[in-house]
Amino acid sequence: MRWAAFLDRDGTIIDQEGFLTRAEDLRLFPGAAQAVKRLREAGGLVIVVTNQPAVARGLIDEPTLARIHERLKALFAEKGAPLDALYYCPHHPETHHPEASDPRYRRECECRKPGTGMLRRAADEFGIDIARSFMVGDSTRDVMTARNAGCMGVLVKTGEGGRDAKFDVRPDAVCDDILAAAEWIAARAGAK
Ligand SMILES: [Mg+2]
Ligand SMILES: [Zn+2]
Repeated sequence: MRWAAFLDRDGTIIDQEGFLTRAEDLRLFPGAAQAVKRLREAGGLVIVVTNQPAVARGLIDEPTLARIHERLKALFAEKGAPLDALYYCPHHPETHHPEASDPRYRRECECRKPGTGMLRRAADEFGIDIARSFMVGDSTRDVMTARNAGCMGVLVKTGEGGRDAKFDVRPDAVCDDILAAAEWIAARAGAK
């Protein structure tokens, strides 16, 4: 079985706070493609896992989100650093957003991080050993996802940089950015 680096999207590999709703606004962080290359060279699968409650809130539809993700994949592929897969959660469980009225999306689910549904689905589809894998993100929600899934959790200082403080959980490492996180993971994965 292989190991994977599960990467959060907003604030981790792309420079985005708030909701991204247009593909033309997509900007990779410097070093993001290099980070993906480094992880692949170290033998990992690179899989993006992202909560996109903007879908549930009616701020973006799934075809538009699909266009954003096609562009994201193309930007990495152009730089010689293709992503292995991308999973997103379009749901939102809370009822305090009156615009979020579509019952397909406004519901509890297992995929919304810190739920582990996206990681488990990837593990099934790719034969991934989650215990040897890593989750990298800019929020405590991502670190909590790692804890819930039973993999290593790496917090990056970009984006929210853990300042959301939503979940009381300690990361296994804190790195300046996605490239530093990839170096930390590559060193550690090689030692296993
Ligand atoms: Mg994020
Ligand atoms: Zn979901």
